[in-house]
Amino acid sequence: MIRAIAFDADDTLWHTETLFQATQVRLAEILGHYASPDEVQRRLHDTEERNVKVFGFGVKGFTLSMVETAIEISGGRISAADIHAVVGMGRGMLEAPMELLDHVPQVLAQLQQRFPLYLVTKGDLLDQRNKIETSGLAAHFAGIEVVAHKDPAAYREVFDRHDVDPASVMMVGNSIPSDILPVLDVGGWAVHIPYVVTASFERHDSDPAHARFNRLESIRELPALVEWLHSHSG
Ligand SMILES: [Mg+2]
Repeated sequence: MIRAIAFDADDTLWHTETLFQATQVRLAEILGHYASPDEVQRRLHDTEERNVKVFGFGVKGFTLSMVETAIEISGGRISAADIHAVVGMGRGMLEAPMELLDHVPQVLAQLQQRFPLYLVTKGDLLDQRNKIETSGLAAHFAGIEVVAHKDPAAYREVFDRHDVDPASVMMVGNSIPSDILPVLDVGGWAVHIPYVVTASFERHDSDPAHARFNRLESIRELPALVEWLHSHSG
């Protein structure tokens, strides 16, 4: 039986990836003298992949990766003014207005009547805390967790701390590697709601073949799915 519902935040409750992609387009414009947009994107991805283990997920690490990529692609010729512009793009992302996905507040308010809700997000602690606060959604959640990595051990640790059996949790998120696979691994239910664009880190080759895996097009469909699973289990 489902006894708790946990949500991812970025690109599940509010828009994030569109901001990253728009920033990458601007970076490619700045570096247009030195490389094609495709090459800029590829090199940025390689830099991020190398750096994420050290800087973690989030805008600040992404900004440092943009600076590093700009210096490397330009062979050290990029101007201080352009570096300044890149840093300003990172700041602009952190200060961008919060945009919730459609139907999110209504769905959380509805589900909150029946289940404790949890928010489990990864990324930069300060940035995520700011976003949670400005989202106005904090009051819907019985617990809010910002973790460094979303792996089975992290989920087990979070649910243990809240005294919730991982096998009774339904996790809802846009990322197969971060929100779905590790939760199925600890015995829970998982609902994948794809976002309009997928970050290069969150791509996956195939869907998990698992009885507890579900996919929805919109969070609006979630209450009905929960009801259905409830009436067909136990
Ligand atoms: Mg996400």
